[in-house]
Amino acid sequence: MRCKKCPHQAAIKLQRHNIALCKTCFTEFVHTQVARGIKSQQMFAPTDRILVAVSGGKDSLTLWGILLKLGYQTDALYVDLGIGDYSLQSRQKVDYFHETVARALGAKLHIHTLAENEGAGVKELATMMHRPTCSTCGTMKRYHFNRTAIEKDYDVMATGHNLDDEAARLLGNVLHWQTKFLDKQTPTLPASMDGFAKKVKPLYRLTEREMAAYAVINKISYIVEECPMAKGSKMLVYKDVLNRLEAESPGTKQTFYWKFLDKQLKEATSAATITEKDQQRLHPCQTCAQPTSTDICTYCKMMAKAKVTA
Ligand code: AMP
Ligand code: ZN
Repeated sequence: MRCKKCPHQAAIKLQRHNIALCKTCFTEFVHTQVARGIKSQQMFAPTDRILVAVSGGKDSLTLWGILLKLGYQTDALYVDLGIGDYSLQSRQKVDYFHETVARALGAKLHIHTLAENEGAGVKELATMMHRPTCSTCGTMKRYHFNRTAIEKDYDVMATGHNLDDEAARLLGNVLHWQTKFLDKQTPTLPASMDGFAKKVKPLYRLTEREMAAYAVINKISYIVEECPMAKGSKMLVYKDVLNRLEAESPGTKQTFYWKFLDKQLKEATSAATITEKDQQRLHPCQTCAQPTSTDICTYCKMMAKAKVTA
């Protein structure tokens, strides 16, 4: 099989676009998709300082590399959740990428370790708070992504969520008719009020399979294992269902998520609506000043409970 764009041997077939590409043209294709997403969703400008949250997985490390290649000033944040070997190995992958690729391009790596700052790893914290580990983990990560971006004065915070992640989340929200979450399922969220960083997902146009292929072709060393806490999660079930639909009709995931974005745009469920709603609903937490809808934010409530139980 030949590459659609040049005379070289094809390395990957993209069913949803009905094309096959060689390694170089595929790499180019991924960069173009990221650049197109950044522009069309008004994610950031060439002079903006970006903070990318890196987990050690293929998506976020690849995103860091691509943004640096495209010439953006991009530092990274790793949150060490203290999940045994899994966290140790993820940290090694993040450090290795920083040392071998990012540092030479002037990029910094920030590390936030739960065991040092919150007093325990996420599993132990969840047990103390009588809460499920995954929701505790989500709260911790979101809190520190936002807080670090604000405190260190970044213009925008990026995560490595890809098309599969966004389509699966949309499916979950639609299956349960959680329409109140739909407003915020766009690849760009505005800095709607003081204390909130602008948040972007530059990989929303690329599938999990494409990101894995990019990482392998470009020799990015990443942690392959899923988080041991995620086994049996609903998101994995939704992804599996969508993959089966995709195998029957290539392009299903893209149509599902992108048409949703078109609809949001037409109905003007836009940055202005999100900003207006957030400003009506949220105010600074009495303990830490991060935006929250109650007097004390979920993170501070959880930390208070963990201290009492410890
Ligand atoms: P996940 O929720 O694990 O699918 O991760 C989604 C995105 O969140 C990743 O692409 C990263 O950008 C970010 N992320 C997840 N875990 C971490 C972590 N431990 N430290 C920093 N960023 C993370
Ligand atoms: Zn707080």
